[in-house]
Order: sequence, then C-alpha cells, then structure tokens
Amino acid sequence: MALKKKFISYGKNVYGKEEINAVIKTLKRTTQMSSNVNLFERKLCKFFSKKYSLMVNSGTSALILAIKIFDFPKNSEIITPGLNFGTAVSSIILNDLQPVFVDIERDTLQINPDIIEKRISKKTRALLIPNLIGNIPDWIKIKKIAKKYKLKIIEDCAESHGVEYKGKKVGSIGDVGVFSFFSNKTITCGEGGMIVTNSFKLAKKARLLKNLAYGIKNRFMHSDIGFNYRMSNISAALGLGQLKNISSKLKEKKRIYSRYKKNLKNIKGIKIPKIKDRTSNFIMWLFNIYLEKNFPISRNELVKILEKKGIETRNAFVPINKQKVLIKKYKTYKRYNCINSNYIMNNGFYLPSGNNITNQQIDKICKIISTIALKSK
Ligand SMILES: *Cc1c(COP(=O)(O)O)cnc(C)c1O
Repeated sequence: MALKKKFISYGKNVYGKEEINAVIKTLKRTTQMSSNVNLFERKLCKFFSKKYSLMVNSGTSALILAIKIFDFPKNSEIITPGLNFGTAVSSIILNDLQPVFVDIERDTLQINPDIIEKRISKKTRALLIPNLIGNIPDWIKIKKIAKKYKLKIIEDCAESHGVEYKGKKVGSIGDVGVFSFFSNKTITCGEGGMIVTNSFKLAKKARLLKNLAYGIKNRFMHSDIGFNYRMSNISAALGLGQLKNISSKLKEKKRIYSRYKKNLKNIKGIKIPKIKDRTSNFIMWLFNIYLEKNFPISRNELVKILEKKGIETRNAFVPINKQKVLIKKYKTYKRYNCINSNYIMNNGFYLPSGNNITNQQIDKICKIISTIALKSK
C-alpha cells in the first residue's frame, strides 16, 4: 500500500548524522570485529550504573537468555502480568517453563502486586515483570514477596530506557534487567537487546551462551548448548551514535508526552495512565491512552477515523494469557482471567510518538480526538 504524503507513523524513529556517520565508519573498516559492541557495552554499563552489560541481537533473545542463565528445573513457574508483550510468554515456554498470569492495575497498567502472592506455588521460581510504557510497578511490594519466597526477579526494561526508580535508572531492580533496542524503542540499533546484571556468575554464563558456548582450549568443542545471539558491529555503531545525544533523545520523548498530556488530560472519556510518585524521570515510551465507557465511540471506530486521516496508531497488546495458539496447547490457560488486561486490550492504543513528530502534528491528532469527544453519546 502506498503511503499517503501526510502519513504520520505510530513509532518511526529517524536517525541523525551521528548514527549515519558511525555506521559508514564501521563499514569502511576492513574488519567487522566486535569493537563497537564492546565499546557499546562499556558505555551502557556506565549509563545504567551496572557492573555487566551484554549486547544481544534482540530484546527477545535477551529475555530467553536472562531466563536460561538461572537453570530453573523444567516446568518451574514464572509469574508475569497478563498485559505484556508476547515475547514474555515465548521466552518462558522456550525455556521449558510455565507462565502464570497476574492481572494489572487498570490505572497504572502495571502488574497488581496484591495478586502475585496468591499465584505462588511450590514450583514458582521467578517473577518476570516489565516497566510497561515506562511506568514503574510497585517494586517495594514486589521485592518483599520475592524475598519471602526466594524468587528471582527479571526486570523487563524494553519500554523504560532512562526512566528512574528511587533515583536509579531502571534495570537495577531485579537480579537481571533486559532491554530492547528495536527500531521503535527509545534507544534503538534497528534490532538489538541487552542484559544487565551485577552478578559476575550470571554475566559469565550469559556471555558464554550468547556466543555458542565456544570451548576455551578447543574452540569447536562447545562447553554447553549455546545460542548465536550476538549483536552485529553495525547495529552497535547505530547504538553508539544514539548514545552520543541520548539526553536530547530522552528530552524529545518527554516533549511528546507533555504535549499529548496537556491536550488530552481534560477530555471526557480519555484516560492517560497514572504515573505514581515512585517513578522519577518518567519517559513514556509511546503515548498510550485508553477510552472509558463515556467516550462516544469505540476504540476501533476511533482508530479507523484516525487511519483515514493518515494517522497510524497501534492497539494495546492482546494479553498473553489470551493467545489462541497457547490456549489450544496448554489447558491451564483457561484458568486465568485478567479483567483489567482485557479491558486495555479492547480500549487501549498508542498514538504516534516517533522522535520526529512535531507539536503541530500532535495538536492536529488531539484536535480530531477532542472534536469526537464533544459529540454526545
Ligand atoms: C519490545 C519489547 C520487548 C523486546 O522486543 P524485541 O522486539 O525482541 O527487541 C520485550 N518486552 C517488551 C515489554 C517490549 O515492549
């Protein structure tokens, strides 16, 4: 389909000179060895104040690896929210483990910590919890539960680059933090991911497994069953370019958020997720809203109207416990009903938030929405 001239993408980020030059420089070098990757890792360790950071080729690879390095017994259970990206459930199942689902709080979109304890069984080993849309769940309660039941915490920060919790950048809360650098994320390499941890043991294991577990004495006598999850040096060049002006990138995201919020906060039937005090330096990944019952038309109708005007949006995730392919395969999935996650699935969506969207474009989008809101139901 040909794109309309005035088309506004939901999340396209454009690269600047820094990134383009870094890639060209890499391509001109005679080798494609991993020097950029190593440098990117070192810089990100500093940025996130972590001892170890490991670059991989996607956020999904990072999640699979982050779970793998704990060596949980087969069929152990990992608790995760219903409203989550599909990759959470894939990474659990691909590790021969079982996901167990907990609903979210409707106002913050974060996992409801009061339900977690009810879902803990003898087989529970870990909590896989995202800082969804850049908002922060109630980590105080969550950490208490993790301590009480000796559970590991895997913190998914794919949507929360640069956000802080109690003055520290996200990625520091769990035993392991996972990031994505996919093209619509706040920092991007096109495709890419990262694991951060302060544990030498976990970092060592992840480093081995991400690179085919090559043998030390004899390279081709592999010391374990490994993956090739390496990031390319070209992707790392893009990432390094992005890091050079990271503060302006984060500022841009804040501009987009404030502009939408100012325009939409008093509109009947529009809900903007609540940001609790525990979140500092809040950066909303993509601007996310959901419609309440008193909005005159449905989410699907609104999205269609916007699409006709060349404005691309993305619907909220389909909760991972509602995935048909999984329900068919795993009988236990029918047990879970995450009411708030389902509500967001049907009523939530993201407005365009790529780094090149202008204030005028944002105003135009909000005007369309507010005009519709004024119509009586
Ligand atoms: C984007 C995302 C990921 C990882 O995505 P990749 O596309 O594999 O890099 C993981 N979790 C969440 C919550 C995400 O939004």
